Amino acid sequence: MPKDSGMNGVQIPVRPQEAPVQNSISESPEISARWQRQSASPSPPKGFSNAHVMCYRNSMIQALLHIPKLVNWLEDYHDTCPKENRCTICAFQRLSLLYWQTHPNSKDVNQSMAALTANLKTTATLRTWRWSRQQDANEFYMFLVNAMIERHSRSRVVSPFEYRLGVPIRKDVRLEDILKTVTFAPANVSDYECEKCKKKGRATQHARLTTTPDILEIDFLRFQQTGRGVYKKNSSHVPFSSNLDLSAFAEGKSTLQYRLLSVVQHMGSFANGHYRCIAKSPSGVWEELDDSSVRKSRISEAINPGGGWTPYSLFYARVEDDAHLNGHVNGDGQVLQRESEGSRHSNHTSSHKRVKSHM
Ligand SMILES: [Zn+2]
Ligand SMILES: [Zn+2]
Repeated sequence: MPKDSGMNGVQIPVRPQEAPVQNSISESPEISARWQRQSASPSPPKGFSNAHVMCYRNSMIQALLHIPKLVNWLEDYHDTCPKENRCTICAFQRLSLLYWQTHPNSKDVNQSMAALTANLKTTATLRTWRWSRQQDANEFYMFLVNAMIERHSRSRVVSPFEYRLGVPIRKDVRLEDILKTVTFAPANVSDYECEKCKKKGRATQHARLTTTPDILEIDFLRFQQTGRGVYKKNSSHVPFSSNLDLSAFAEGKSTLQYRLLSVVQHMGSFANGHYRCIAKSPSGVWEELDDSSVRKSRISEAINPGGGWTPYSLFYARVEDDAHLNGHVNGDGQVLQRESEGSRHSNHTSSHKRVKSHM
């Protein structure tokens, strides 16, 4: 990884969760969250060649191509695009179609990956990206999303991405416990002002998921700036499982369950490392996708890999239970919103009961 990279090192134009979201994937229950033709006429996952230092790109694109709802969106809901030749989503779509439809040894997927990369190089978002250097897979992911938004054209779905949670990790602390004690931890606020009666006082703020994103990325914040231009990798083991229960953090929803689809893993240090992806294929088999190499793997390798590999980006899909009834997404595109209890209540009296220290 370059010295000026890392999660804290560069200016990221617009984070996906801050991007304006209209007609996101989560708002489109008609897009299936299941594999469709990929499971009907299976074509196995393919590797991407790595001429130089592109493993961050290869692993992240692999992780995304193993999200059924995203693939269905790319292939079926982005048609008749007037900007076809310039559009980044169209370039991604062509790659997805080839990836899931051609023979495993076809060179087409690599040509298509090269075409997507060439497209990205022409976007304002990625114009200054240093392609010749090792880069951070997560940073690439955020830039890719922004490039797609930058080049979007008239489409039924504008942005599929509104679902990234950066998680500060701690050694041997379970993901759920980090979410509970850090990401969604209650905070005491001394100058809370009640919206209705304008009374001021102390209150407890709770961070809640205000959307129920269909696809959720958990991003372990492993690269930390420890000094000027100095980054260190936190290789701590973080226990997590293939099922992620976010019910406790969901606003107005009784159950919110997620299931793991793909994991981008990193090996090595900040300055020198390698990425691969472990993902569940449409046939249900977990595969290790390491540049051009594709091997059978296991879910345990995705979650608890040995050999110096550390999980970095986890992609989960929401378990569809009552998706059509509760697929509500608010309009502001915020996945995570820190808000005061009582600030959004319709019943003023009950709000005072909920705000513990409101005086
Ligand atoms: Zn397009
Ligand atoms: Zn009040």
